[in-house]
Amino acid sequence: MDFPESKHVKLKTLDAVREDAQDCTRCDLYKNATQTVFGEGGNQARVVFVGEQPGDKEDVEGRPFVGPAGRMFDAILEEVGIDRKKTYVTNAVKHFKFELRGKRRIHSKPNAGEIRACRWWLDQELTLIQPDVAVALGATAARALVGKAVPVMTLRGTITESAEGVPVFITVHPSSLLRVPDEMDRRRARELFAEDMRKVKALMKG
Ligand code: SF4
Repeated sequence: MDFPESKHVKLKTLDAVREDAQDCTRCDLYKNATQTVFGEGGNQARVVFVGEQPGDKEDVEGRPFVGPAGRMFDAILEEVGIDRKKTYVTNAVKHFKFELRGKRRIHSKPNAGEIRACRWWLDQELTLIQPDVAVALGATAARALVGKAVPVMTLRGTITESAEGVPVFITVHPSSLLRVPDEMDRRRARELFAEDMRKVKALMKG
């Protein structure tokens, strides 16, 4: 997939792009969400972690990875010794997509058009950061990074390439670990994810 229109972004800074994204209307998701939730992390990040979209808590706080899955993700990165100063976390889609059930906002999966529209911002984050590796956390992130649908469970733990040539490590989204009903299975899933993060650490050069 080619995104030639965004090649000018090398002239911008990450902060300027973050500011631009606050007013984005490239798809309809901005209409119901509270705010754009842009990525966070150092300009010197060696790894960019890409999730699906902000959750309910992220939408309200305006920051990525601050919900329950994000907290567990933080704990696993610490366990495996990935330095957070060398990480940048973001989402494939930067507005919260949900359905209202009563007063509850229930997560709704972004569609291919929304993922493609929001690739404009992800492309700029990758171009400006130039990480050693981007990590696709789940199918939506993999689709955004690779530019097509990716069988995550088949390719988990392998490297493929983004549209711009950035190596992409494929794994599951940390929220999937929280949904495993059996405790033993949940621990095993957590350990498998930690193993993936050790592989990611090995791919970081800086
Ligand atoms: S989801 Fe992405 S493309 Fe759609 S309005 Fe929000 S920032 Fe723009």
